[in-house]
Amino acid sequence: MADKNRTKYLLDEKDIPTKWYNIQADLKTPLPPVLHPGTGQPIGPQDLAPLFPMELIKQEVSRERWIEIPEEVRNVLRLWRPTPLIRARRLEKALGTPARIYYKYEGVSPAGSHKPNTAVAQAYYNKKQGVTRLTTETGAGQWGSALAMACAFFGLQCKVYMVKVSYQQKPYRRVLMETWGAQVVPSPSPDTQAGKKVLEQDPNSPGSLGIAISEAVEDAATRDDTKYSLGSVLNHVLMHQTVVGLETKKQLEKADDEADILVGCIGGGSNFSGFSFPFAADKLAGKKKKLRIIAVEPSACPSLTRGKYAYDFGDTVGLTPLVKMHTLGHTFVPPPLHAGGLRYHGMAPLVCKLYEEGVIEAVAVPQVTTFQAAIQFARTEGIPPAPEAAHAVRVVIDEALRCKKEGKRKTIVFNLSGHGHFDLSAYEAYLTGKLQDYEYPAEKIAEALTHLPQVKG
Ligand SMILES: *Cc1c(COP(=O)(O)O)cnc(C)c1O
Repeated sequence: MADKNRTKYLLDEKDIPTKWYNIQADLKTPLPPVLHPGTGQPIGPQDLAPLFPMELIKQEVSRERWIEIPEEVRNVLRLWRPTPLIRARRLEKALGTPARIYYKYEGVSPAGSHKPNTAVAQAYYNKKQGVTRLTTETGAGQWGSALAMACAFFGLQCKVYMVKVSYQQKPYRRVLMETWGAQVVPSPSPDTQAGKKVLEQDPNSPGSLGIAISEAVEDAATRDDTKYSLGSVLNHVLMHQTVVGLETKKQLEKADDEADILVGCIGGGSNFSGFSFPFAADKLAGKKKKLRIIAVEPSACPSLTRGKYAYDFGDTVGLTPLVKMHTLGHTFVPPPLHAGGLRYHGMAPLVCKLYEEGVIEAVAVPQVTTFQAAIQFARTEGIPPAPEAAHAVRVVIDEALRCKKEGKRKTIVFNLSGHGHFDLSAYEAYLTGKLQDYEYPAEKIAEALTHLPQVKG
């Protein structure tokens, strides 16, 4: 029964979606092809087979609207799903806004973010195909911990190449990964040719996500028992996250409400897409024309708002296939933002396509004002948001204040993609006045864009 007066809108386990929503079915024109870096020709399933199990490769290119979620995957999702939709009444009151604000809270997963939604599905399909070991890279450790947990559930070995600076400076996520049974090594490591090469040139290299990707990919490509797993950007990853938006739709019905504005932060695009694509479906079908869907990125790494829509590598070293996306250039190294999960030079191709078609909007916000919003949220609603999710909070507060000024009673719904319990050093930096904004790195980006790969046509 619909009830406008609740604070938490909860669903039953039986309401966990039974199918993922695949937005590729509803695009007017298909995504531009992914190209082989050597030949410049579109790649086929066989090119990806050394890295991913066939079911995931099929999902990556599928144009079927609904894809069945295996019962084994749903059974694991039951541990924390459905996640709550919460009306931010205390924040509304503090802002004095006539707007209604709701947040979908993905921080209730054991790993503290939305990332296990895809980690579990990926571990399942690998296990089903007889794979016994997965590799991946991780920056601050959010994705690594999600995959470590999923591998524990399905009895897979897991090796995580963790960017060396994070490995040294953020020991708790490493311990969490080890608690779930993963092997974690600082990257660059002597375990791969890619790592050895970097170490020869610079034994004290702090590492980067790009180097760690190269190591994890090489490890998987050179072993028969091993495949590689990625936590964002790819079509199948975004699709696995649509459980978030599908639940949110049902919960808004329970609240007898309808979204006017949806907000999510974007690093590679997975939590934003999972949350918003089931709503974007209505826009693509010509309904809900006034619904605004806003993606929020950091102004120091603004792929969507300032990047070029062009073919580029997914990694820094230049090993991956070429994908058409908004990119700051694969050689661009973003400033050391606290929102580590948003420090990526590119963006999910599906998000880019919807942005190009005007289905979604994007805004970039700087770091300090983002933490101001995070603190206000923590002091009213209780949860300290992950620094990534705090970007969404900033824009939600701005929109709610705009409603106040204009006297409009809009419904704003956002995805709180994770909690910040492992990011308290960033909060400490803010609280002690040490947190700073980074200038928009215009020159570095312009330089990096000169290194885009040449693609014909
Ligand atoms: C990794 C992460 C992000 C950014 O990744 P997306 O793929 O863009 O969602 C955002 N929020 C949290 C909590 C994360 O862990």
